[in-house]
Amino acid sequence: MAEKYVLTLDIGTTTIRSFIYNSKAETVGSAVDQVVLHYPSPGFVEIDPDELWNSIKQIVANSLKDANLTAAQISAMGISTLRSTFITWSRETGKPFHRFITWKDLRADKLVNQWNESYTWKTTLRLSWALQNIEPLREAVKKDDVMFGTLDTWLLHKLTGGKIHVTDVSSASATGFFDPFCMQWGGWALGLFKIPRGVLPEVVDTAGEHFGSTTPDIWGKPIPIRSCMADQTASMWGSCCFDVGDVKLTMGTGTFFNINTGSVPHANVSGLYPIVGWRLGSELVYSAEGSNNDTASIIKWAQNLGLFDNPQDSAEIAESVPDSDGVYFIPAFSGLGAPYNDGSAASGFVGMKPSTTKAHLVRAVLESLAFRIAQLYNCVRAENSYEFNIIRVDGGVSNNDFIAQLVADLTGLRVERPLHTEMSSLGCAHVVGLQLGIWKSKEELKSLRKVECVFNPRPQVKKAYEVTCSRWEDAVKRMCGWYI
Ligand code: ADP
Repeated sequence: MAEKYVLTLDIGTTTIRSFIYNSKAETVGSAVDQVVLHYPSPGFVEIDPDELWNSIKQIVANSLKDANLTAAQISAMGISTLRSTFITWSRETGKPFHRFITWKDLRADKLVNQWNESYTWKTTLRLSWALQNIEPLREAVKKDDVMFGTLDTWLLHKLTGGKIHVTDVSSASATGFFDPFCMQWGGWALGLFKIPRGVLPEVVDTAGEHFGSTTPDIWGKPIPIRSCMADQTASMWGSCCFDVGDVKLTMGTGTFFNINTGSVPHANVSGLYPIVGWRLGSELVYSAEGSNNDTASIIKWAQNLGLFDNPQDSAEIAESVPDSDGVYFIPAFSGLGAPYNDGSAASGFVGMKPSTTKAHLVRAVLESLAFRIAQLYNCVRAENSYEFNIIRVDGGVSNNDFIAQLVADLTGLRVERPLHTEMSSLGCAHVVGLQLGIWKSKEELKSLRKVECVFNPRPQVKKAYEVTCSRWEDAVKRMCGWYI
């Protein structure tokens, strides 16, 4: 029987990746490109749709070439995208009214401060800003000539030659104006922010035939699209977080800590957002999410500063000293998430002395990333009564043994690092593969999971860190509200 191949397209904030998997979930081809971010004014962070489209076409073509396959040999594709990044375009001409306004964009922050600090709300306010401030868009709304889409919606529209205008429940729920309880666009939010309902896409299941096929002109032959989902949903699937209480921790540019809360939306108490994980027919799964905006961004900064030459060296440098010698680092380049929820917190080192060495600074930086993750975990634990025993990690920073071990120590949970750390791509492939019958069940997907390394918690280390953690929390509190 001919081998079945699944192609995935994963669009992140910094990179676009395309992978091709065989029926053993092994990678047979891949390609990567950088996303170009534009900063046209202070605080504005945009993506050009034409540049992105050209890059997507090229990356998929390159991955096919790498696998020595043609589009005709791909059984189906799956897509995962960054969330809360949107565009609007003319229904009539297809021309965009502006570039993508990304989740990193700060133009509506004054409005955000007036309303609510949460990550998801910010998209609503950015859209509200666009509807008020972009003149051609405002005019087009009056003529009912506007289509709105998060990146997934726009991409599906382009890939299918304008045939569909849809988004899946996971991407919809990250906009902030989707009601996760009623599972439809939230009428009150649309009214409050004057978002016309007619511009919004239809909200659909995370997988199925409703996504159509790519037009043949793009890659030579049509490729059926069988799933489209938000990046964190995809990485939950990649990490096989299928059961209630399953936890995954993605440490990329930012950190995303997601717990599967089953069919019940999590009530937000300390800043853990209730989002829709996925909907597949009758299966509706919610997730509670805690995030830190800065993780790999901190590693990159420390590298640029000359604290280490390679991120790979940083764990060894941190281990070369027994502690940080009383130095604490506050990782708040874009403020602090739960439990602080403080967009005006400052970053910095506290407690440097003449005896402080580079190694102490490196240790303080790496420790701070693990401390923030332990704080997110404590929020999750305080608000849920699930039994946790494993954290499944992924993302570039999860390759850091010092951080992975310290996360295990401080949370008291086993940390499992998989062989393949591109979990969003793998997750997309898992969903598509189940749809196609390549894999029969979630149990089978779990059996395909390959763990590279396990970090077991060391209770004595947790005890030894008690004073350090509490001193670090004191230092963080001093940096909160710095920019108010
Ligand atoms: P994203 O998908 O958000 O673009 P990735 O998950 O690909 O990010 O993470 C890439 C980043 O991970 C690199 O830029 C690097 O800073 C960081 N990284 C890679 N290996 C290590 C390591 N061993 N220790 C710390 N950071 C690392």
